[in-house]
Amino acid sequence: MEISRNGSRPSRQAPAEWFTGRVRMDPVAAPPAPARVQAALVTFEPGARTNWHHHPLGQTLHVTAGIGRAQIEGEPIQEIRPGDVIWFPPGVRHWHGAAPDVAMTHLAIHEALDGRTTDWEEPVTDAQYGGPVGG
Ligand code: MN
Repeated sequence: MEISRNGSRPSRQAPAEWFTGRVRMDPVAAPPAPARVQAALVTFEPGARTNWHHHPLGQTLHVTAGIGRAQIEGEPIQEIRPGDVIWFPPGVRHWHGAAPDVAMTHLAIHEALDGRTTDWEEPVTDAQYGGPVGG
């Protein structure tokens, strides 16, 4: 058994080339091979979001705080709230982030394929982020 004590793993800022705005990442799970699941708590300041991206083996999000937004390309933007669980199937282009005026934290869970969990693409523009929120 290995216990990672609270405070033993520092928070880090998410890389600016993959995110818009201030985003903090706190590692939760990154077990050694052959395990391949990874999990992190990700906190987006208001207006912050991921770039467009997809996951080779899909991704589950569990919103733990605040109010957020998520969108699969070609579908309406959805508001996401604490307790919501979101599944993005493998290879489906999407983004997720905070609401414009409220921060959001989610647990992100995904698996690595050939060592890679995410394929990153271009930023979500302000016009895309500010589009209508569907029901
Ligand atoms: Mn994702």
